[in-house]
Amino acid sequence: MSTKCPLTEKEIKDMIKLAKETRKNAFSHRSMHKIWASILTMNWKIFWWCNVESAISGLGTCAERCAVDNAVSHWFYEFKAVCTVDTKLVAICWACLQYILLFAQVSDKDIWIISADIKWNYQIKTLNQLLPEWYKTQKIENLKTYSKQKK
Ligand SMILES: [Zn+2]
Repeated sequence: MSTKCPLTEKEIKDMIKLAKETRKNAFSHRSMHKIWASILTMNWKIFWWCNVESAISGLGTCAERCAVDNAVSHWFYEFKAVCTVDTKLVAICWACLQYILLFAQVSDKDIWIISADIKWNYQIKTLNQLLPEWYKTQKIENLKTYSKQKK
């Protein structure tokens, strides 16, 4: 599998821009740490969301998973890239990588993971690079029913 990123600089910047626009919406009363994420579908539509914290530690949801859920709620299940924006470059947590990889199984394609900061710096790697040992579902035939996403 080629590791050359198919995304253009403009597409990456669009993902960072849309993720950054959710900053004011973050519900981060526990940590006061606002995280934003965007997700690019196979047919170049971008969805985004912010982190949502709970009063009970562990019940909140990372921005990345919220962005995935936003795309899924619009019938999109196949993704090219996920972008996280923070005040500085940070790694996406393992739980989110594991969550995203299920969708890599839907499309049977690797997903590009972009870590960006508010100054437009970014790093980009593949999901395979960040999570080489996957816990894969054995229900692959069930996943494939989602591979014809809304156009
Ligand atoms: Zn996470």
